Amino acid sequence: MSIKSDKKHIEKLDQDYLWHPFTQMKDWLEEKPLIITEGHGSFLKDISGKWYLDGVSSLWVNVHGHGKKEIDNAIKQQVDKISHSTLLGLTHPPAAELAEMIIKIAPKGLKRVFYSDSGSTAVEIGLKIAFQYWKHKGDKNKKRFLSLNNAYHGDTIGSVSVGGIDVFHEIFGPLLFKSHKAPSTYCYRCELGKKYPSCKLYCLAKMESIMKKHHREIAGLIIEPLVQGAAGMITSPPGYLKGVRRLCNKYKILMIADEVATGFGRTGRMFACEHENISPDILCLAKGITGGYLPLAATVTTEKIFKAFFGRYEELKTFFHGHTYTGNQLACAAAIANIAVFKKEKTLIKMQKKIDILKDGLSGMSQFPHVGDVRQRGFMAGIEIVKNKNTKEPFDIKDKISSKICDRAREKGLLIRPLGNVIVLMPPLSISHQELKSLTRITGEAIKKATV
Ligand code: PMP
Repeated sequence: MSIKSDKKHIEKLDQDYLWHPFTQMKDWLEEKPLIITEGHGSFLKDISGKWYLDGVSSLWVNVHGHGKKEIDNAIKQQVDKISHSTLLGLTHPPAAELAEMIIKIAPKGLKRVFYSDSGSTAVEIGLKIAFQYWKHKGDKNKKRFLSLNNAYHGDTIGSVSVGGIDVFHEIFGPLLFKSHKAPSTYCYRCELGKKYPSCKLYCLAKMESIMKKHHREIAGLIIEPLVQGAAGMITSPPGYLKGVRRLCNKYKILMIADEVATGFGRTGRMFACEHENISPDILCLAKGITGGYLPLAATVTTEKIFKAFFGRYEELKTFFHGHTYTGNQLACAAAIANIAVFKKEKTLIKMQKKIDILKDGLSGMSQFPHVGDVRQRGFMAGIEIVKNKNTKEPFDIKDKISSKICDRAREKGLLIRPLGNVIVLMPPLSISHQELKSLTRITGEAIKKATV
């Protein structure tokens, strides 16, 4: 059966049957949906034939552009062999070869790859491995986690338990396990009332005081290295991540780096941890791992953690976790091609100039009367919109200011999506210099128009 591409028909089916993620469906049903039918390079085409620049990489996943020949072909070739067999009791070439490729590019010391299907499951697995690790080590007390305010690690109950974005997470409070919370590195609105750099990273000192008091019960710390993405591209000051690693070592706490958003080149290096030359004990990957093609995730651990799960079967030290599509062949084939393109096209080297172009494009926006803060790390950028620049007073949620800005951008052929009062820019790493300039120009114009 072929999918009918009749606009009215699809609109009706969408409105009659679909429930969209993170969407107030009452509002959605009052408007006509934008229907995407094709993608090429940095662009998406709607059902009427209009092309849009994909300013958020189809939710932070696209790496080398849409319709990337190498990835398309890898999937097609894999389909001709087999699309799925299980990793429970069997193995297959794409899963094994990809695991080696991941270990070769991962921060040093990481050695074992456990697959799953989304960022949330990668995190869930990281938490469960850390918890079980300490049990096997004979430490029964280490059963809590330390995470950051403003953190976002996914939507499953475990990952929400270590999350810290009230708008999304508060309602699920009664379902969550308790975790300790360290301050966010939100310098623009420092929760500790300090100013960078005179604060001398007081947030780290606060983290240490929590560890000092509770380290006996803390199994692991989970952190989004360098950028808290979903909270609005909150960047951490230099030295912070290294400081966190040092504290985890000092207090015998496993460090779980959630690089679901920052991984695969987003920050200008393959992984954000590289910027501060650190290795976590557990690394969570998803999103860009397949170049933005198929759902795949990986939780990567050290050999020391892996070996702690060894034992006779009846000792039940096995990691009893696995999803049906774990290590799916098509997804692994896409991921292998994705990583190969990084090398072949020198993606990370070419990106450095583009990071500067993005920076240039953003620089003028700080002067806008309603732009409070502009944050950027590589190709992750957030523009915080405020009602009053002097007091930093935000717009009221009812004003829907960010949605208005994104609507103006859409009229001009740019698709972007806000996070609260923050406009996010996260283009594919393959975006051209010219396209990047259009991205910031249209965004700037949209902000001006919507905030007059
Ligand atoms: N961790 C981080 C840092 C994320 O940004 C996200 C998604 N935005 C997730 C985990 C969850 O990933 P997924 O939506 O694939 O479950």
